[in-house]
Amino acid sequence: MIGMQQIHGSYVVRVSQKDDGKIIENCDGLISNDPKVTLLVRVADCLPISLVDKKTHSFGLIHAGWRGLDKGIIKKAIDLMQKELRIKNSDLKISIGPHICQKHYEVGRDVFSKFTKYPEALLQKNNKLFLDLAKIAELQLINNGVKKENIKISKTCTFEGPSLPSFRRSKTSERILVKLNI
Ligand SMILES: [Zn+2]
Repeated sequence: MIGMQQIHGSYVVRVSQKDDGKIIENCDGLISNDPKVTLLVRVADCLPISLVDKKTHSFGLIHAGWRGLDKGIIKKAIDLMQKELRIKNSDLKISIGPHICQKHYEVGRDVFSKFTKYPEALLQKNNKLFLDLAKIAELQLINNGVKKENIKISKTCTFEGPSLPSFRRSKTSERILVKLNI
């Protein structure tokens, strides 16, 4: 199993069996085509995004909150999969796991204004501002050649689920572990 340090950056690394047991530093995305590898991400409110291409046996796992989305981690991961693993963007199947939903994700004006090019992901209500992280991710995926019908988004909100860790709800150090291998 291979994990990542998760610093809300956009650095994506290709890994293989020789990295087994490591936590890759300064890293928020891993890609591989090594069937012996299992990728690991830890989340509590942020998006766990898995990318799979069965044709080339390639897979990737991303940790993304608003910072990572703003820094373009989705594009960086897809570009690296294309360059290193020869995937076609239109073949990618995406799954976004449990995360904080829009109505529980209030943000400040500074964060809100970074995403004005994704109006479908923005909500203003009672002088409060809310972001839909999964919608931003979906729009960025589509902008990078992923087919809409190949994107699955979990409806489970970490903030609402008392059995799930939510940093917003309880400042917890617990995390959901999402594993990916093929
Ligand atoms: Zn919610």
